[in-house]
Amino acid sequence: MSHTPTKSASAWEGIDQATGFARLDHEAFPVFHPGTVWLVGAGPGAPGLMSLLAYHAMQNCDVVVYDALVNPDILRWVRVGAELEYAGKRGGKPSPVQRDISLRLIELAGQGKRVLRLKGGDPFMFGRGGEESQTLAKSGVVFRIVPGITSGVGGLAYAGVPATHRDTNHAVIFLTGHDATGQMPANVNWQAVATASPVIVMYMAVKNLGDIAGALMAGGRPADDPVTIISNASMPQQQVAATTLTEAGRFVAENEPPTPAIVVVGHASDWRPLLDWYGAAERENRIG
Ligand code: SAH
Repeated sequence: MSHTPTKSASAWEGIDQATGFARLDHEAFPVFHPGTVWLVGAGPGAPGLMSLLAYHAMQNCDVVVYDALVNPDILRWVRVGAELEYAGKRGGKPSPVQRDISLRLIELAGQGKRVLRLKGGDPFMFGRGGEESQTLAKSGVVFRIVPGITSGVGGLAYAGVPATHRDTNHAVIFLTGHDATGQMPANVNWQAVATASPVIVMYMAVKNLGDIAGALMAGGRPADDPVTIISNASMPQQQVAATTLTEAGRFVAENEPPTPAIVVVGHASDWRPLLDWYGAAERENRIG
């Protein structure tokens, strides 16, 4: 028995008669109310990896407070007339402290603005979105979280490295290689991390990679475990480098891989020779 799916009457609502395409600006997106803050993930870099809610927020905000990790190419989708405020490091000056950023968001919301706080990747993945939304909640500012594609998943995909694969790993660990002071995080049980999952995905780990690799090997991780460093993932200038746990410290010292970079430990990268799809032709497209 064959069955031809048809769109229900409601599915045709808002479809442009001339083109047959549904128009995003006809959709009933959540209202971005004045005096509220949306904490939005912009994805790892490629503009096309942003969500529809993120795009909607860009089209409806009054001010965008964005981080260094946000690809400036994405900001061209911000509606004309909205203000842009940069909240990252600039010209060698230290980055604004977290408290100042949170207070700024509260201040802008207090002015009745629709505040778009735009962050790289996902706001709750090593992005301090937790801290910012906590401060907003305590201050009684209404907020919404719009998740994004985190670099530790989407960035891997652009390098042909599946974060999970049934033949490789049934678990994955996400780890930061940096604590608040910039050091290798001390309150991590490295032995547990070394043995708990075949694949470890590390953010902000390039600087301390030698120490981290040492801790993982001391915890029982094999010295020849593959280490893959994915720089500027999903961007035309993406670079991928391969080394091993025992060589990792020396490798980064000698080669200085560009940052931002994600470091993947384990055999997830064994698939890369077959799955590496992001080639020269793909990189020519600005969207993704
Ligand atoms: N919230 C972000 C992570 C913020 S922490 C997310 O979900 O992706 C900053 C770290 O993210 C960087 O040091 C780097 O490890 C990683 N990162 C972010 N964007 C990246 C990119 N395009 N390529 C590689 N690593 C990236």
